Amino acid sequence: MDYKSLIKSTNDFPIEGIIFRDLNPIYANGDAFNSLLIDIEKLCQGKTLDIIIGIEARGFIVGAALANRLGIGFACVRKKGKLPPPVISASYELEYGEDVLEISEDALKNGNRVLIVDDVVATGGTIIASVDLLNTLKADIKGIVSIIELLSLNGSNKITQKTNIPVQSLCQY
Ligand code: AMP
Repeated sequence: MDYKSLIKSTNDFPIEGIIFRDLNPIYANGDAFNSLLIDIEKLCQGKTLDIIIGIEARGFIVGAALANRLGIGFACVRKKGKLPPPVISASYELEYGEDVLEISEDALKNGNRVLIVDDVVATGGTIIASVDLLNTLKADIKGIVSIIELLSLNGSNKITQKTNIPVQSLCQY
């Protein structure tokens, strides 16, 4: 499916200079959403997984649907202060300043085989912080999947250099 024809691009949102890539038109279209899940499932072929990890907030949409399709569980990485204690935290750089991601300490069992799912890889900072969290929980990270990858920001290469895990994506800009 030609996902790019459905993705809505908005200039200068949320701040000047950013082209925001909105996946909501795909989720709103039953056939497109189904096709997206089939294509993501293909990226998972050959991986034995115990649980899908979705990153707040838009990684939850595809992550939870994929987990259900694969017949496995789902756990979330959330922004600071959203999960009850005990949690593990990792900070990461934003374009200006920094932010913190958290996961519940009991979200995984040692050695759980996980796949990380998010909607967009931009600078890669969000995924790198999520990998830090999962490594602290001794997860076995089998892959990283994003629907969109923004090539000019080089996020995927940064992720792979830092974590040794390749990023798989369906659409590149
Ligand atoms: P980063 O940590 O820089 O890789 O940013 C990734 C997160 O920011 C993702 O969870 C996206 O939801 C969001 N994001 C960054 N840039 C964009 C963009 N141009 N359009 C839509 N979402 C974006």
